[in-house]
Amino acid sequence: MISRLRLSPEAIGVGMTGQRVRDRLIERLREQGVENERVLTAIRTLPRHMFVDEAFAGRAYEDTALPIGHGQTISQPWVVAKMSEAVLACAPKKVLEIGTGSGYQASVLAALGMQVFTVERIGDLLRTARKRFRQLGIEVRSRHDDGRAGWPEYAPFDAIVVTAGAAALEPALLEQLAPGGILVAPVNGQLLRLAQDPEGRWLQQNLAPVSFVPLLAGVME
Ligand code: SAH
Repeated sequence: MISRLRLSPEAIGVGMTGQRVRDRLIERLREQGVENERVLTAIRTLPRHMFVDEAFAGRAYEDTALPIGHGQTISQPWVVAKMSEAVLACAPKKVLEIGTGSGYQASVLAALGMQVFTVERIGDLLRTARKRFRQLGIEVRSRHDDGRAGWPEYAPFDAIVVTAGAAALEPALLEQLAPGGILVAPVNGQLLRLAQDPEGRWLQQNLAPVSFVPLLAGVME
């Protein structure tokens, strides 16, 4: 999948967006416990600087969340890596993301070979994300909607990644997870991983404390 990316000179980057700076980010992610080589390769290859406003391009390979407008942020690379690693454990083919935002996390999942469905409630962010997908040759299905209801038409999903924080898990999302699937979501400031055992019981694991923008109701232009 990575080999199919359209890597223009802009996407390959130079200086503050170039390979050396990206390699430093990868080293940092390793130090912070990211082990999956496919995830690290996807993060090194994808031009994160093209998912933020130009004013922030020079900071795109710092391990930090950055503003993307409308009070929203592109997630910190470490969080993107942890969420991607967590779902890879079930070798998912089809994944649902809630909260497209910049489109970066969706692109990482697509670069890992998954068929990605993503839902965003802010139309303006979604339009910009779609432009980036086209520009980079990334295939992602996206929808402008309140993602708390999931995307029932395409359910079940092998994995679900929620990239906005809530006080509780959305039951509709759990219902759209395929047997053996994994859901990762920030709930009450903790990154949770949920999976069902063969008897249908939910197993919950706390991956890390995290801070996320809130999961909100309704849609906006
Ligand atoms: N995955 C994104 C992170 C964006 S921040 C990235 O890689 O850039 C979280 C996003 O979730 C924001 O864009 C916000 O608008 C969106 N969001 C919040 N509540 C939502 C909801 N109910 N449905 C869909 N998207 C939602």
